[in-house]
Amino acid sequence: MSDPTTAASVSAELYRRACRVMPGGVSSPVRAYRSVGGTPPFLAAGRGCRVRDEDGNEYLDFINSWGPLILGHAHPAVVEAVQQAAARGTSFGAPCRAETELAEKVVELSPVAERVRFVNSGTEATMSALRLARAATGRDGFVKFDGCYHGHGDPFLVKAGSGLATFGESSSAGVPADCARWTGVLPLDDEEALAAWFAAHGGETAAVFVEGIPANCGFLPQRPEWLARLRELTRAHGALLVVDEVITGFRLGPGGFCGREHYQADLVTYGKVIGGGLPVGAYGGRAELMDRISPEGGVYQAGTLSGNPLCMAAGLAALSVLEREDGWSRLGALGSAWEERLRPLVERECAAGHPVALARDASIFWLCFGTEEAPRSFAAIPAAGAERYRRFFHALLRRGVMIAPSAYEVGFLSLAMDEDDLDQAAAAFAAALEESR
Ligand SMILES: *Cc1c(COP(=O)(O)O)cnc(C)c1O
Repeated sequence: MSDPTTAASVSAELYRRACRVMPGGVSSPVRAYRSVGGTPPFLAAGRGCRVRDEDGNEYLDFINSWGPLILGHAHPAVVEAVQQAAARGTSFGAPCRAETELAEKVVELSPVAERVRFVNSGTEATMSALRLARAATGRDGFVKFDGCYHGHGDPFLVKAGSGLATFGESSSAGVPADCARWTGVLPLDDEEALAAWFAAHGGETAAVFVEGIPANCGFLPQRPEWLARLRELTRAHGALLVVDEVITGFRLGPGGFCGREHYQADLVTYGKVIGGGLPVGAYGGRAELMDRISPEGGVYQAGTLSGNPLCMAAGLAALSVLEREDGWSRLGALGSAWEERLRPLVERECAAGHPVALARDASIFWLCFGTEEAPRSFAAIPAAGAERYRRFFHALLRRGVMIAPSAYEVGFLSLAMDEDDLDQAAAAFAAALEESR
């Protein structure tokens, strides 16, 4: 074993090699550890709630591949389903039984999807849902919220423009201004901003995209009144409400956020958990909307590997385990047990003058440094908290606990964890909180 962050480690050598052939050495930017410093451990294996790096260090994993691994790593039922499917052929580019079975399961569990289309990622799901919403309404503009993430499609890589109720500016190089100008970006938790937007642009707004519980910029549970107002205004102005459940879908419960909260979306997007750890995204809605998609209707959307039997088998296996083993209520209980351990630690920090807030719902949690009150909008997150997060992150990693290498990413519990794992993690959190003050 050697420290994976020292230059002499196997991970560091692999990272140097990776950097010669991949931008930043990674396939997705946050993995490069830029916001916490140091270089990333390269993971060699995972089992249950633990992962092992190339240097032989073990970590208790709260990342869980950023959400998909709700059962933990290499769950036997998923591994077996994938092995059996792989032996029969990984992809045919033709309809297959597993695809219909997963679609039936999604339609059964989702309160929104009467029909579903499978894609390969959450990004594709939101891009396609936007195209469908534009087609269905004959409008080009749409709205997203500051602090929500909907993948890296051009129209979503947009930040608020100058002035209230104006369309936005691109937040990534390479996104044409002409594309960004159809995206309106509003603050979360703000009824007045919603009203101002619809007063000015209601008639040109195809859709509003929202995460039922925003979980990509910290964890920002919204007030029910705000969510209700959003539903009311979209309906009044003929705009579709698209609830992006890529994180919350099949995690908060069988029906995701919309099912649990009885929130009425027009379209819903899924990803992460739905693929059981393999790349799957999906979007769904009422039949009359979904039947606008090709070949039934004129909205083109396709995929060489979409709905392949390998990924469908993994998704089906994961959802079956969750259903069969009462997974969602067990995860809810595990979440409460975790909060019971974290809450006193957070209170101790606050009392000592090092404020930190805890936000938690079911198996998702987030610590926000620099404030005692859990924020509900991006603007309410203290930017200075990221500095302490760096220290906290490394203090935890040294103690064998892996959380996301960014202050703005949430943690996920998995069904592979038990109360002993939580005790072990809580001891590490307690020590790392104290050390990082
Ligand atoms: C992760 C995520 C996406 C993007 O999904 P990818 O599979 O990474 O493309 C979209 N929306 C939300 C809410 C997400 O959390």
